[in-house]
Amino acid sequence: MIRIDSVTKRYPDGTVAVDRLSLDIPDRSITVFVGPSGCGKTTTLRMINRMVEPSEGSILLDGVDIQRQPVNTLRRSMGYVIQNAGLFQHRTILDNIATVPRLLGWSRQKARARAAELMERVGLDTALAKRYPYQLSGGQQQRVGVARALAADPPVLLMDEPFSAVDPVVRKGLQDELLRIQEELGKTIVFVTHDIDEAIKLGTNVAVMRTGGELAQFAPPAELLSAPADAFVEDFLGADRGIRRLSFFPSAGLELRTAPVVAVDAGAEQLAARASADTPYLLVTDLDGRPLGWSEPADAAQGVDRERLLPYGRPFVPGRDSLRTALDGAVLSPTGWAVAVDGEGRAVGVVSQQVIGEAIRAAHAAGHPHAKAAG
Ligand code: ADP
Repeated sequence: MIRIDSVTKRYPDGTVAVDRLSLDIPDRSITVFVGPSGCGKTTTLRMINRMVEPSEGSILLDGVDIQRQPVNTLRRSMGYVIQNAGLFQHRTILDNIATVPRLLGWSRQKARARAAELMERVGLDTALAKRYPYQLSGGQQQRVGVARALAADPPVLLMDEPFSAVDPVVRKGLQDELLRIQEELGKTIVFVTHDIDEAIKLGTNVAVMRTGGELAQFAPPAELLSAPADAFVEDFLGADRGIRRLSFFPSAGLELRTAPVVAVDAGAEQLAARASADTPYLLVTDLDGRPLGWSEPADAAQGVDRERLLPYGRPFVPGRDSLRTALDGAVLSPTGWAVAVDGEGRAVGVVSQQVIGEAIRAAHAAGHPHAKAAG
């Protein structure tokens, strides 16, 4: 654990960048520092690896004051990733990643083998190994930056706006990759961003800071969304808090109806038997069970007419997706019913907005969700 204990940083010109900050960063989780530009995030991160020394207070790593550890030993236990990756331009990708192992005295062969393994780990094609950084896209360079930071297998990873300079699609890929790496390797990650959505997506815990270097709130993302500490945090979180919070509720418990799901070759009689007062629409699937669209009640009597099917919106995968995705599917559907599919995209049932609404109320009544669902 990293304990930040009443730390203040005053720069020589008098600027108070961080003001009596105290919080505990638990092992094997992602702790995100978020806040407007200039609120002291980078200063805080750099105090953890002693690139910046605190003016007051102390930082403890596993109970030991980091001031009492040699800087080199400390930094070796902490990988560091920055915006634009900061790669060595005159070294190949493989040698960039192998930098720290080489400094630690590994043989060239062993360091390169490790580097190749890490390229795969961060989702880079090993065919890129002999290229130079300028021959890679921004997103690929960031992956190299992450691989380089992981090379000596440090328990801690410090990341300063690592994904801020890439476009939104690449950024989402990098975020998903980081979550996967964290799950596989169990690193203690401290992540700085000015983007609240990134903080909510990645953080196990999120520290919201305000200008002047004060901690405004430190909580798991679902708790930030449900109970912002004050008007500043609420404003910083932005609109749609309630809807966004639904991302943290799983869709697994939703009661699905299967009767209204019919194959495209169903006859008029079967259709009539399946339509009922509380599920007037029928979800028509192809012969593999993949949804095609909704059939209107009046149409059912004549059998399925593919031309007249209504769009079924965006289906959700129960258990994998959140209540937010399920609700979105129901809202997008012209029938007000969401379509549930399995991992292969085959319909497993349908669920009404009303049932989703009841699940939301039940989830709220059960208290703060701590587990994180995707989507
Ligand atoms: P953030 O990462 O949240 O944008 P920083 O930690 O970089 O914030 O900066 C916090 C405050 O400290 C800002 O007002 C910034 O201008 C100031 N600052 C940062 N580095 C220095 C420095 N070396 N000397 C003086 N002031 C600094």
